[in-house]
Amino acid sequence: MRTFNFSAGPAVLPESVLQRAADEMLDWHGSGMSVMEMSHRGKEFIGIAKKAEADFRKLLAVPDNYRVLFLQGGAMAENALIPMNLLGDKTSADYVNTGEWSKKSIKEAGKYCKVNVAASAADRDFTYVPAQDTWQLDPQAAYVHVCTNETIGGVEYHWVPDTHGVPLVADMSSHILSRAVDVSKYGVIYGGAQKNIGPAGLTLVVVREDLLGRALPITPSAFNWKEQADNDSMLNTPPTYSIYIAGLVFEWLLEQGGIAEIEKRNIEKASLLYDYLDQSRFYSNPVAKTDRSRMNIPFRLADSALDEAFLQGAKEHNMVQLKGHRVVGGMRASIYNAMPIEGVRALVAYMKEFERTRG
Ligand SMILES: *Cc1c(COP(=O)(O)O)cnc(C)c1O
Repeated sequence: MRTFNFSAGPAVLPESVLQRAADEMLDWHGSGMSVMEMSHRGKEFIGIAKKAEADFRKLLAVPDNYRVLFLQGGAMAENALIPMNLLGDKTSADYVNTGEWSKKSIKEAGKYCKVNVAASAADRDFTYVPAQDTWQLDPQAAYVHVCTNETIGGVEYHWVPDTHGVPLVADMSSHILSRAVDVSKYGVIYGGAQKNIGPAGLTLVVVREDLLGRALPITPSAFNWKEQADNDSMLNTPPTYSIYIAGLVFEWLLEQGGIAEIEKRNIEKASLLYDYLDQSRFYSNPVAKTDRSRMNIPFRLADSALDEAFLQGAKEHNMVQLKGHRVVGGMRASIYNAMPIEGVRALVAYMKEFERTRG
């Protein structure tokens, strides 16, 4: 039996995708081998990678003047690779600090350039997105970096910042493909795949073409976006099996009706949980209502002495990975695209029962 897995990442994948991967494991489409065993330069795998890119472009309506790169290293590596690839002859970048992942990006970028924290939500414990009119943007900055969904704090942008022509760079690791995005408003969108796309090991970078070619000379070739773009992400061996699974997830998303449909379901799932939290006197969520994440929903019990009992009971009800991140404590339910609404219904029903019997 499959459990309801509320992990923040690596995270739940659609069951039908896993089933198909299992069916194709030993012999992919009559090739007599597993995708894992294929040369990345053979026509079979090149076909798989091309289809994955085409489907991703269709899902997010990526404009023609953007390149989609399939890389390795995760979003953490990109924290260093973003300044390396974008600084050109500039010396500073603007960062907006909305929580734990922003802090990591800021710290890493500081090794390569001057970082200006244009706005910070530290004053209210990272429970909101600072309004655009409070941002102190520097027109000379190489780029403006935001984390559009803070996986740990559960804070999400529901609007697109206006950076007055300076390229906007967004870490979308934990909500990419969960909602419609106007890609043309961004210079770079990036994210690790293991939250909402597929298995760990794959990193997506969507970059506007005119931003390629600004890399510092020290940038490793395997992480130089222009060199990778010129080689269709095959300058070195890409994470082939992760690309294949991501491609199956993209096909699944298209079958579901694409991003418009999945966004509708995500709103419905998140509302179910938030509506319950808001009427409860036992559970609470600290995030400003306008800035709440649809993907990662942290919540607390009125009495943290009950946390362990809550988690144990959840496990007995077939629900796992609800423990909050150690930095914020409490609980967190990550409800990515592949989490069925039945999982959220089961969670709310369990929470009600726990509140009634223990609250
Ligand atoms: C998980 C996560 C990261 C780190 O990703 P890695 O693949 O572990 O490097 C960075 N940013 C956000 C928003 C994340 O959720």
